[in-house]
Amino acid sequence: MNKHIRQWPYALAALCVVFAAPRFVETNYWLNLLNMCCVMGIACLGLNILLGYTGQINLAQAAFVGIGAYTSALLTINFGLPVWLGMICGALTGGIFGILLGIPSLKLSGHYLAVTTIGFGFIVQLVLINWIDLTRGSDGITQIPVFSLFGISFDTEERFFYFSGTLVVLMAWGIIRLRDSRMGRAMLAVRQDEMAASTNGIDVTRYKIIAFTLSSACASLAGALFAHGGARYISPDTFSFEQSVLLLAMTVLGGDGSALGAVLGASLLTILPESLRFLRESYMLIFAAAIVLIMIYMPGGIANLVTHLPPVAQWRERRRKAAGMELEREEESLPPLELAPSRDCRDGDMLRLVGLAMYFGGLKAVGGVDMLIRRGEIHALIGPNGSGKTTIINVLSGLYRPTYGSIQLYGRELAGSPPHDIARLGIARTYQNIRLFSGMSVLENVLVGQHTQSRTGIIGGVLHDPAQRKEELSMRRKALQMLHFAGLQHLENEAAGSLPYGRQRLLEIARALISAPELLLLDEPAAGLNPAETGELRDLLNKIQAMGVTILLVEHDMELVMTVSDTITVLNFGRKIAEGNERQVRAHPEVISAYLGQEE
Ligand code: ADP
Ligand code: MG
Repeated sequence: MNKHIRQWPYALAALCVVFAAPRFVETNYWLNLLNMCCVMGIACLGLNILLGYTGQINLAQAAFVGIGAYTSALLTINFGLPVWLGMICGALTGGIFGILLGIPSLKLSGHYLAVTTIGFGFIVQLVLINWIDLTRGSDGITQIPVFSLFGISFDTEERFFYFSGTLVVLMAWGIIRLRDSRMGRAMLAVRQDEMAASTNGIDVTRYKIIAFTLSSACASLAGALFAHGGARYISPDTFSFEQSVLLLAMTVLGGDGSALGAVLGASLLTILPESLRFLRESYMLIFAAAIVLIMIYMPGGIANLVTHLPPVAQWRERRRKAAGMELEREEESLPPLELAPSRDCRDGDMLRLVGLAMYFGGLKAVGGVDMLIRRGEIHALIGPNGSGKTTIINVLSGLYRPTYGSIQLYGRELAGSPPHDIARLGIARTYQNIRLFSGMSVLENVLVGQHTQSRTGIIGGVLHDPAQRKEELSMRRKALQMLHFAGLQHLENEAAGSLPYGRQRLLEIARALISAPELLLLDEPAAGLNPAETGELRDLLNKIQAMGVTILLVEHDMELVMTVSDTITVLNFGRKIAEGNERQVRAHPEVISAYLGQEE
């Protein structure tokens, strides 16, 4: 994330290790094992995108390794395709099957999704065994052509390792970079909180499918590599369910969401059983016990262990401090925040609810509400607990499809649109129960808030090309301005979940506001704040209004509501009972009896 911290020296160092390693390894046996580490490492890098970044499970990763291996082997043998092209086709085929497997993930999650992927893995294996005409069945395919590129034939273990090792380093580098990009942050956001991700403009469906596709393509590339290196023989039993479990174990053992960890985990679990072979019959038992012990005593995986080694920890702390100082310097030199000016050509009637109703079973949470929000105002929505305020916000932000009625933003119908589309059209929100991406930094949360206003795709995210870097820099500047605006300066590098409650509320508002929305929906922003913090919030609301952003404010703090609001709508049992300015609402008999009570 920090522009002065270069990653390429580390990639270069890793490449040097790859090119030096064969000097220290005497036998082909060990070179073969290193090649196997690379194959497993690439399959695990894919799983790291899926599991570590996006939080989806796949227990059929070995099946995708098989799809890549068979596709490439058959294309090169039957059609004489050059091996490099066969490998690319293998990876693409895997990616296409990945889309197919990704589709159930839109409806299923957790153990249901896990079982579905297991089923997929069995189907692939059955096809490989039984479609004998094509796959040669259980006998497998032998004499697969050797990999060559630009006239160089990678026909020895050593040469092949130079290639596979380089590929691992480059892919790990790209996947680490991906994490620090718009796409990577969106994936992490999906993993942390799908609902908040969607109302921040992230198309959750799309990102899950992308993750499945990338993950499967990596696995299939690993499979193609496996087919054309080493024994150059493949058979269906290599791509079994057990192998998928092993790949998952490697990824989890490596570390949660760490690409480097995935490669280390894959290497450890490839080399460990081989180095335990001297134990004869009991070696698998010891290996299994070793996995269990490692999981118990290293919950964050190898990546976590490595980052807590004293020299690494000190280096990270220095890096964190330097990055923090750099951010502070940068922040001081930035001009104050300006959001995109509101669309002046539009008239004053911004959002119109007509007969809006939302039923849950027999319960009428909202029972036919008409309401008009005018551009530039702070419009409060108040009422007793359970009167339907949050439900209205949920319907407006697209989380619920209304049972009846219509929602028009400048005359455009919104009812039934998905949350990410509504976010794109300019409606942002916060939640009554704060929903930050708590494992991500304060800065990253605000960067996710700019999802709809940025466009970098996967390729830009991996390559960090000039266009991506330019966009990233401008997003980062705007994020810093926003944090300054919201009174969160100097907290950029903190984990969002570690902030005190009041700061978290402000951060959630900052994350919503940075998308420069037409309308900002705030659900009880003052809940849990102390009087000083409520005062800060009031100032912030006034400043936001002054920037031209319209606010729908759901709030119980009557003093706050009465001092900032231009219009107040009062709900009771899902019905509108009063509307007007502060004086009219205070004097309304039904409001007094239903909500304000004796204090008035
Ligand atoms: P408020 O925000 O005004 O306190 P809510 O909008 O949260 O009220 O809730 C209004 C009513 O709708 C309550 O009776 C609540 O129990 C019910 N409700 C809200 N969301 C759901 C849901 N997802 N499923 C079933 N009932 C719900
Ligand atoms: Mg509520």
